[in-house]
Amino acid sequence: MISILEHIEQDFLDELCQKHFDEILVPSDGYRYKIKDALEVLAEESVTKRHRTVVESIIFWFEDFILSRPDELEILIDYFDDKGYNLLIKMDVNFRNKIAKAFNYKNYRGGRNALRLAQGLDLKSCPYCNAQYTLVTKDTGRNKLAFQLDHFYPKSLFPYLSMSFYNLIPTCGTCNNSKGDEYCKIADSYHPNVKESLTNDLTFITDNLNIAEAYLKKKVDYNIFIKDEESLSVKTSAHISDFFIKELYARHNDIIEELVWKKYIYTEKYKQSLIDIYFDDHRLSKAELERLIVSNYTEKQDTHKRPLSKFTTDIARDLGLIK
Ligand SMILES: [Zn+2]
Repeated sequence: MISILEHIEQDFLDELCQKHFDEILVPSDGYRYKIKDALEVLAEESVTKRHRTVVESIIFWFEDFILSRPDELEILIDYFDDKGYNLLIKMDVNFRNKIAKAFNYKNYRGGRNALRLAQGLDLKSCPYCNAQYTLVTKDTGRNKLAFQLDHFYPKSLFPYLSMSFYNLIPTCGTCNNSKGDEYCKIADSYHPNVKESLTNDLTFITDNLNIAEAYLKKKVDYNIFIKDEESLSVKTSAHISDFFIKELYARHNDIIEELVWKKYIYTEKYKQSLIDIYFDDHRLSKAELERLIVSNYTEKQDTHKRPLSKFTTDIARDLGLIK
């Protein structure tokens, strides 16, 4: 739902990527584990020449696996497909586990480097659903991680991508569990590290204002719809069903109730009186005023800062509470 590139420049993302690469080459978590050394050992111990060729190829492409952007990773996956390497990895569970072990993701996941990666991406809400927090706790020495890391390209199919920067997505537990182990390309599935966000395609709406007002009097629950749902792209529709977006949001009709109350409280005159308040020499900007009114962020580049920001903003606009 959220593109990280709405709030982080590509250059900065590439810098984080390089930092991630340096950190896993020279780990600073008290262990001196080196992925490439482990791969060299695995190549030496290979049971067949074919297995050895695959591991040598992984070593050859190692830098690219860690540093490449999603579109480039897919080219590498295709290359491994053409060579038949992915099939061998898929069929030989023991071999697959050995590659995964060499990449040592489990150790990384429990360490401070994973925490730093998530801190750098600065996501406070899940990029797949925007319905739950992916808070990153402070580094206290005992790492309590309140987020999960999703592998956009499943590590069960591509263990050699288990440490790839652009394949590590901080998410909520629900979305991480919802996501299957199938290979989805960026052409068919939203990748949070690609500058294309679902916020453009998916708009939440509710009952029209007259009905909403009537519901308020009768104390009836509000309905949540997705605008023009029938004409959405296949990719957007797939995201909605894969991540259970409608089911996730169905229970939030009490937020709509509050927004309808606000629609009648925040008259244009009242809004103007709020703009006229000075905090020393500062007055509320349009974005700040809207944030005050809907109790959430309303600017597209701020969607990542709090759960339900997209939903709350869409409904507030639909009701005419904000512009
Ligand atoms: Zn989520």
